[in-house]
Amino acid sequence: MFQKVHLRLTLLCAGITSFILILISFIYLYVSEQSLENNQFLSFQGNITAILSNLEQQTVISHELLSKLEANGKYSIFLLDNGIPFLYHKREDNAVKDELLTEVIAYYNIMYPDQAESAKTLPPFKSVHTQFPFSSSVTRMNYYASVIFMQKESGSLQAVVLYPLDKLKQQKSEQRLRFLVIDILAIFLLSLFSWFFTKKLLKPILENQKQQIQFFSSASHELRTPLAVILSCTSACASASAEEVKDFISIIQSEGLRMSALIDDLLTLGKTDSHTFTMHMEQTELDTLLLNSYEAFETMSREKNITLSVSLPDASIPACICSGSRISQVMAILLHNAISYTPDDGAIAVRLAMKEHYFLIEVSDNGIGIPDSEKELIFKPFYRIDKARSSKEHFGLGLCIASEIVRAHNGSIQITDTLGGGSTFTILLPALNNNLCP
Ligand code: ADP
Repeated sequence: MFQKVHLRLTLLCAGITSFILILISFIYLYVSEQSLENNQFLSFQGNITAILSNLEQQTVISHELLSKLEANGKYSIFLLDNGIPFLYHKREDNAVKDELLTEVIAYYNIMYPDQAESAKTLPPFKSVHTQFPFSSSVTRMNYYASVIFMQKESGSLQAVVLYPLDKLKQQKSEQRLRFLVIDILAIFLLSLFSWFFTKKLLKPILENQKQQIQFFSSASHELRTPLAVILSCTSACASASAEEVKDFISIIQSEGLRMSALIDDLLTLGKTDSHTFTMHMEQTELDTLLLNSYEAFETMSREKNITLSVSLPDASIPACICSGSRISQVMAILLHNAISYTPDDGAIAVRLAMKEHYFLIEVSDNGIGIPDSEKELIFKPFYRIDKARSSKEHFGLGLCIASEIVRAHNGSIQITDTLGGGSTFTILLPALNNNLCP
């Protein structure tokens, strides 16, 4: 399941990023090719102006001049003197070139009839030239072409200059190939990155899922024990004497109450997890709240001969904006634990103080203490340091619920060792509790 989701997320992530990359590459390639073509055309136009001025200045056009103007074969120049092809380009006796020339002139006459017409009535010593891209069916090549008309003393001179675009085509192909290689490499790296990124992204979800499975298996295990006792008692009732039945019913009752307490705890935790935890925030006098908690646990502590004391600040402190019933629940958990894990004749001290912008509540005992390695773990659901020694009504959920309640108040709960042995639980509740979790 996880592998499947991981693979799908990787494909989605890599697919989207690759699509964006390819799109950007295409746009960049298009813009870059356009600017390459424009630059080539501008440079061609500039060279045509130079060729034109050279032709204009010369009274006699020699083969050497034409050869120089052709710039070592970079350009093909065809001249027509009074409409008759100049012999220069015929020296190679190239019939293809003749056909090419005819094709260019025909194309020019069709595409630019106005210029062709105006060239016929050109005043002496004047010239016109037109540049255009041209695709030849004779040579199957693309060119930039320029048709020049010049009115000279000796008559009209027509020049056709062709610049083959095979180098430009090659440049474009090389650039496309470079982009293809870069894109393939980038897509590969993106896929690799997506694989690790989504794995990291899914890790907390996977851990959460593991914790939930662990939580449910622990919860069902805890529920199964009292249920098994109840079932065995009910089946034993059938053959038991009236006296025994009485005992069985009392066991069933106490196990039922245990189950009910566990279900209450599970429901509380379920609510904090799904953020449906209801807290009625109100102005709460914490000193009164602590005295009430003290009174509630005084009898229990007296049974173990444990000294329970409360220390309140001398000066009056402001009311705390919190859920009084939930903070009482936290106090009940901490005091119940303190009494449970403190041997007879021990001492438990509850203290309230104001510390900068926090209310500080401390519950310290001189009991069995908590090893450093367990201090964080005991806040996990169903975690008990010594399961065998825990009494039946301890499921390992109390501190988990307490920390969730304190967290919902934007507060914190910490454990330290009591001087001389035992544990001290310190709760900090913000005095300005404006931004509370639900
Ligand atoms: P439980 O219901 O088992 O007490 P808690 O979540 O309240 O569950 O506590 C988790 C574990 O932390 C307990 O099982 C116990 O081992 C340890 N613990 C909690 N409070 C104290 C304490 N005051 N002194 C020593 N150990 C404690």
